[in-house]
Amino acid sequence: MSIARFWRETGRRYNLGGAKCSVCQSVYFPPRAVCPSCAKHRHSLGKLMPIQLSGDGEVVTYSIVHDAAEGFEMQVPYILALVRTVEGPVLTGQVVDLAPEEIRIGLRVHATFRKLREEGKAGVIHYGYKFTPTFDADGRRKPTGTPEAPLATAAPGSPASA
Ligand code: ZN
Repeated sequence: MSIARFWRETGRRYNLGGAKCSVCQSVYFPPRAVCPSCAKHRHSLGKLMPIQLSGDGEVVTYSIVHDAAEGFEMQVPYILALVRTVEGPVLTGQVVDLAPEEIRIGLRVHATFRKLREEGKAGVIHYGYKFTPTFDADGRRKPTGTPEAPLATAAPGSPASA
């Protein structure tokens, strides 16, 4: 199977499948066939291997979007951030489960897959990654002003997975 076909079939848009150069260890998302970091690009042909990004990263910069694009009307204001993943690539995405006033540079986040938008009357639904705040080591994060998130009533010892 060709590398390109492998990437198509892994559905990189949904599972954060990237590519890692086995020559210089650079990581790319979306995946590339040739490594632009290698001094001799052609020598990296065939040396880029699929890698699954963990989805963990931290906010590099962000903006609060008040004017929604068509299809996003219900979500303003929302947070759009650049997130540097622990593997290296910088991803752009919406940060959810966090009030706009709580976003800050350096915030640790994790990519999750959510419905992004519905398109027209046909109701075509697009899915993609969004970022949610990563819980602190003690399993808590500061309140976000969303009382429907029952953090306080979670049973002791229950997994903090979301
Ligand atoms: Zn390389």
